[in-house]
Amino acid sequence: RTPRLLGPAEIRDLADVLGVSPTKKLGQNFVHDGNTVRRIVQAAGVERGETVLEIGPGLGSLTLGLLEAGADVIAVEIDRRLAEQLPHTVSVMQPGTRLTVVHDDALRVTELPGEPVRLVANLPYNVSVPVLLHLLERFPSLRSGIVMVQAEVGHRLAAEPGSKVYGAPSAKAAWYGRWRLAGQVSRMVFWPVPNVDSVLVGFERGEAPGDPSGTEDERVAVFELVDAAFQQRRKMLRQSLSGRLGGSAAAASDVLQRAGVDPQARGEQLSVDDFLRIARSAASGAD
Ligand code: SAM
Repeated sequence: RTPRLLGPAEIRDLADVLGVSPTKKLGQNFVHDGNTVRRIVQAAGVERGETVLEIGPGLGSLTLGLLEAGADVIAVEIDRRLAEQLPHTVSVMQPGTRLTVVHDDALRVTELPGEPVRLVANLPYNVSVPVLLHLLERFPSLRSGIVMVQAEVGHRLAAEPGSKVYGAPSAKAAWYGRWRLAGQVSRMVFWPVPNVDSVLVGFERGEAPGDPSGTEDERVAVFELVDAAFQQRRKMLRQSLSGRLGGSAAAASDVLQRAGVDPQARGEQLSVDDFLRIARSAASGAD
């Protein structure tokens, strides 16, 4: 009987057939444990018949789990050999399921053959944050998701203002919605075994400035303020933001005070809503 998910033997055979030796550059660590795959699919709350976006399907470990749960999967893979092989793997292991493979770079993809409502992915670790921000910006149909990322990145994405690991990625991610840690994943479920730990992170759009009220201009302004504030993390906002808010500490203090933000605070204390109030205060002052 053909297995429905990829185990260590199937991963090894597929890699052999394709002559694939996983590259670090593309973050290629493949999951060879069906229990982990089913756990991710369950944590994501995937429903039969819904369209799910997967980034970096690789040899198909998670893709097969999503198809098993009855999802219509759109999978974006940058590695041509993997993108070309995936439909064959799926047609053997789970014939009759619905998969569309897009051979593209997830950092640049602007069109998809469908409107995915959920993102489920074991992301390439070196680009996980830019990929997430790009997808959330470009595809408003995505309402929720579960992604596997490097543990440090996961903790950052889910961090609240004031926490040690709260940084620019935390504030930017919070523009789109709410994030939470959804469990750890052992490095032993991957081939090759990575030298970092992994976590699952879940998100839901909404209750956030970018959803629904913030405009694109405001998002750009907020992200610039966030970058400036965290580039000089130890400095007070009236200094770190002076270049963006009037050119002097005094002018910046004025904008910050009108926004109800303490000019002596630091970026790590501000929520994304605070950053939005600053952007709006600066824009109204410029009128
Ligand atoms: N989903 C598979 C699994 O769980 O076994 C593979 C996950 S592996 C961590 C990351 C995958 O992302 C690889 O297949 C890699 O080729 C692909 N990838 C890397 N950079 C990418 C990019 N910019 N756009 C799309 N796919 C990418």
